[in-house]
Amino acid sequence: MKVAVIGAGWAGMAAAIAHVQAGRLVTVFEAARTVGGRARAVPGALPDGTPATLDNGQHILIGAYAESLRLMRLVGVDIDTALLRLPLTLQFPDGQGLQLPDLPPPLDALLGIARAKGWGWRDKLALLRTATAWQLRGFRCAPATSVAALCAPLTPRLMTEFIDPLCVSALNTPANQASGQVFLRVLQDSLFSGRGGSNLLLPRADLGALFPEAAARWLQQQGGQVLTGQRIQRLQPLPGGRWQPVVAANGTEEPGAFDHVTLACPSWEASRLVEGLAGTAGLAGAARWSATTSALRFEAITTVYAHALGAHLPLPMLALRNTAAHPAQFVFDRGQLDGQHGLLAFVVSASDGDRALIEQQVLQQAAAQLGLPGLQPVQTVVEKRATFACTPGLQRPGMQVLPGLAACGDYVDGPYPATLEGAVLSGTAVAALA
Ligand SMILES: Cc1cc2nc3c(=O)[nH]c(=O)nc-3n(C[C@H](O)[C@H](O)[C@H](O)COP(=O)(O)OP(=O)(O)OC[C@H]3O[C@@H](n4cnc5c(N)ncnc54)[C@H](O)[C@@H]3O)c2cc1C
Repeated sequence: MKVAVIGAGWAGMAAAIAHVQAGRLVTVFEAARTVGGRARAVPGALPDGTPATLDNGQHILIGAYAESLRLMRLVGVDIDTALLRLPLTLQFPDGQGLQLPDLPPPLDALLGIARAKGWGWRDKLALLRTATAWQLRGFRCAPATSVAALCAPLTPRLMTEFIDPLCVSALNTPANQASGQVFLRVLQDSLFSGRGGSNLLLPRADLGALFPEAAARWLQQQGGQVLTGQRIQRLQPLPGGRWQPVVAANGTEEPGAFDHVTLACPSWEASRLVEGLAGTAGLAGAARWSATTSALRFEAITTVYAHALGAHLPLPMLALRNTAAHPAQFVFDRGQLDGQHGLLAFVVSASDGDRALIEQQVLQQAAAQLGLPGLQPVQTVVEKRATFACTPGLQRPGMQVLPGLAACGDYVDGPYPATLEGAVLSGTAVAALA
């Protein structure tokens, strides 16, 4: 069986692996020159011209990302070296905040909350009471509930110092617009999936090396093909339920007929390709799938890389106090992660506004909150469509598009918000439909 996978992001590579394991002949078509999609390495340079390896966005994984970890191991990534494992920490530069001890759940959360610095007993009791109520209700709520409504019993301090940063880092959507149901699912899986589920796993390698490049090598060793610089322009249905992906004019020769196509490109591209089939006789489902997919809305993420000789943080990652004028929620010390000393990565989730302004505001925030006035900007990456907006009651498209045509990706219907784990889970699952 010949399978075409369109897109070599994390979902596409997971799908290609599962197809190969099912004994199929796989060709992956990737529009860009590199693999990894929205989680990829990008080349950069420090202010003095020294080459630096950056990512299109600083990423965090958590211990509960079981499928991501399984796939990394499968393609030969040593996860103990490639990821720094830390207990869940939301600590601010002044030392306040939450740090969970290394204990089995729920003891880690209970003790962590009891010991949290800077929170009064009212804050702690409100959190314990509310979290217990969530647990008793099986971590479920009405689909229309927002995270802000779900957390209404909490104190204003907990909202600004705990829920807002947690929500925006997990769902990339502000708490007043974010889905309470998905937020509870993430909390349940991270806090109750077993010891270490809530651990932060911070990449010590660039995002390309962490999975997609290793996956591409593995696929090639298994007889699969990964073709970069090949943008699929449209899909041509063929007699007998087969498909011809048509490569854009700048590509090489047409790749031939496939028995199955897995769309692993982002939602807007998948929707465009499927919409192109909507007029074809017998493919009535195409218009419906494409309409659901094109209705998704997006949130941006901006990562500001900045450097100063000797700049370092007390921890590899700190939470920051974020306001309209100080937009970053987190900062990472790449020196403690991949050895690029003096390089800091500031993350502005659900970011809004102009690249130059965000960069300038973040540098001012670093001076005010970290006491680092001398940082030089290295590179600022704005990913305008970083994730879909994870809003209450959101309708997400399913995996099955048409006979012989299926879709995977972080946006496809599933338990998680747009994350690496959501992407690879759907990639692995889609191969079962072929
Ligand atoms: C800045 C940023 C920070 C993030 N932080 C985190 C985090 O900390 N933790 C976390 O879990 N998640 C995070 N995410 C989300 C995570 O990166 C995504 O959910 C995940 O990478 C999506 O993978 P995907 O394979 O579904 O899609 P994509 O990565 O978008 O892959 C799709 C691929 O298809 C290719 N393509 C597009 N059109 C075509 C075509 N016509 N033909 C061929 N190829 C095509 C694209 O070039 C791309 O390589 C972040 C995302 C961003 C942008």
